[in-house]
Amino acid sequence: LQQAVVWNTGARPEGAGFMNQVVITGGGLAGQTLALALAQAGMEITLVDPRQPEPEPTPRDGRALALSWQTVCFLQSLGLEPALRDAEPLWHIQVTEGKARPLHFHARDAGPHPMGLMVDADTLQPALRKALDATRARQTRGTTPTGFQAVPGGWVVSGPDGPLAEGSLLVGADGKDSFLRRWAGIRTTRHPYNQTALVFRVTHPEPHEGRGFEHFLPSGPLALLPAPPREGIPSSSAVWTVPDSMAPDLLALDDATFSLEVSRRFPCLGPLTLCCPPRAWPLGLVWAWQTTGHRLVLVGDAARTLHPVAGQGFNLGIRHIEKLAAHLIRHHTLGLDPGATPGLRAWSRACLPSSLAMAAATHGVVALFSTHRSWPRGLGRQTMALTGAVPFLKNTLVRYAAGFSSRLT
Ligand SMILES: Cc1cc2nc3c(=O)[nH]c(=O)nc-3n(C[C@H](O)[C@H](O)[C@H](O)COP(=O)(O)OP(=O)(O)OC[C@H]3O[C@@H](n4cnc5c(N)ncnc54)[C@H](O)[C@@H]3O)c2cc1C
Repeated sequence: LQQAVVWNTGARPEGAGFMNQVVITGGGLAGQTLALALAQAGMEITLVDPRQPEPEPTPRDGRALALSWQTVCFLQSLGLEPALRDAEPLWHIQVTEGKARPLHFHARDAGPHPMGLMVDADTLQPALRKALDATRARQTRGTTPTGFQAVPGGWVVSGPDGPLAEGSLLVGADGKDSFLRRWAGIRTTRHPYNQTALVFRVTHPEPHEGRGFEHFLPSGPLALLPAPPREGIPSSSAVWTVPDSMAPDLLALDDATFSLEVSRRFPCLGPLTLCCPPRAWPLGLVWAWQTTGHRLVLVGDAARTLHPVAGQGFNLGIRHIEKLAAHLIRHHTLGLDPGATPGLRAWSRACLPSSLAMAAATHGVVALFSTHRSWPRGLGRQTMALTGAVPFLKNTLVRYAAGFSSRLT
């Protein structure tokens, strides 16, 4: 991949043309959020993404994201309040497993706010895009970067027809298969779960009343999360995790049979009716062993991709992006070169405990519950019982999921 470097400008004077410029490769949720935070603070940003801008926001992602209260506050601070106005609050999560006593997590145990808001990725993406368009950030969309060249004082990002962008700091926000991460040779561990998440929307006779449900089936968790009513009928967003081998058969079912299959497995809210076709997301854990390099930083799924069982992947990314943005903006106000700021490694180290905790927790839950073997499920049930019996433990989990806990960055 190193051979993909196609453009060579030769030596440049230290920092020339680069000072205060940050190039972000990847304009997904993470890249756009970071770009917005930095651009609003007056930093010079270039965002590069191979995807063509959509003329109309055509729904194609299909996911409803559980945004923690901390993420919501950060997005609101960036002016995204209107995109979150119609979002459904999450007040209560009920966790069930065949034989175990249900476990209830209440937002009220952590504070006055909901645990978070349910927001469609298809709403958030264009809202970020619109907010970014209103800044001075440069956006190069529709061209795939083919290489990166380190030059004195920064990086040059090149595309098939020559240079695309240059900056003193290069940020990789290009998702779980990050080209930049591979190109930089960063050691990465990948664990395929051999599971696919089917995401869809259902209506049901009983109102959800701000409740989310996670039902652990041996084949994988089935989660229903509050969504706004559909034509007056209560509705929820669903994430049904199934073994890869099951996914094609389920996707081939007609709507009525699919609804029946989900209802058969889900114990709450009455019979479910599919109202949006399911979309499939293959799942895997990705762990980059370094998230910084020479004038280089990885954020979002490019740094850590988690199983969505706890709905925390983007929230984790935002925790780290918020800290990174604060760090870069602080140095920008002092007129310092963002790529050479001391403290990027310290930022990376500070992000490690929360990444480790979240990766271990999600991985552990999948290992305990997504299995037909009795001993891991037994252990899972014991863990559920212990969590339910120890209010401190339960409240700590609620506080952490909502982002209220400041113990881990
Ligand atoms: C089923 C499912 C449900 C989820 N639910 C939740 C939830 O409830 N709560 C939560 O917090 N998280 C959730 N997540 C996780 C969350 O969706 C991700 O963490 C988040 O979308 C990652 O955003 P990202 O910008 O890092 O990556 P991506 O969204 O993958 O964006 C990567 C971007 O990089 C671009 N790109 C690709 N290649 C290149 C290249 N070579 N150069 C430049 N750019 C490139 C792509 O076009 C894209 O725009 C869920 C994930 C899944 C799969």
